[in-house]
Amino acid sequence: MKALFGGSFDPIHLGHINLALQLLKRFSFSEFYFVPAYQNPLKGGAFASADDREAMVGLAIAEANEPRFRVLDWEVKRSERSYTVDTLDLFTKMNGETALLIGDEVFREFAKWKEPQRILELAHVIVFSRTEQADPREAVLASLGPASPKQKPVQWIAIDALPVSSTDIRRQLGQKTEPQGLSPLVRRFIKDHALYAE
Ligand code: ATP
Repeated sequence: MKALFGGSFDPIHLGHINLALQLLKRFSFSEFYFVPAYQNPLKGGAFASADDREAMVGLAIAEANEPRFRVLDWEVKRSERSYTVDTLDLFTKMNGETALLIGDEVFREFAKWKEPQRILELAHVIVFSRTEQADPREAVLASLGPASPKQKPVQWIAIDALPVSSTDIRRQLGQKTEPQGLSPLVRRFIKDHALYAE
């Protein structure tokens, strides 16, 4: 099975890479796709351009040296609001069974996503414990109403998340503090392109 891991990646950091490596140890995914969003409809605009964010994902995964890592550029290339259900629709047609990886804090907003029920029919959703809060599945799934007969079970997995976020990294860069949790190639790219008020 192949896995999709979406995000703004603004910028990608070692928390994302560490999480991806942990999930690859637990599940035998044949390929693991990072999917940078052009624009997350539930977030404000991104700070770096979609092309720069995609480039940074490419650098971070090159540095991680894990042959199953890939970048899926569909949402960036579509240049419009990114809806996971649209990406999944096409991806599952081309690749068959697909896992969709979602952090718990993101999954708490799942009812606001476009066609959440259909996402649960298309993908094997795996929710991981980015925060220390309790498993959110019961409450979130109840809020979606009656389950469809084609819905796949949602899995929950506890991981050791690194205490790193893109928000903190952007804040550190804005304050001219050396940011924590970036891979060296991504750090260099940010410097060379004067991103995040560098
Ligand atoms: P921001 O601070 O701008 O909201 P972020 O650091 O949360 O960004 P995103 O690109 O929004 O990063 O997150 C994409 C996915 O990565 C989400 O599912 C999120 O839960 C997960 N994620 C982000 N940071 C970590 C981390 N340190 N450890 C594990 N998962 C993480």
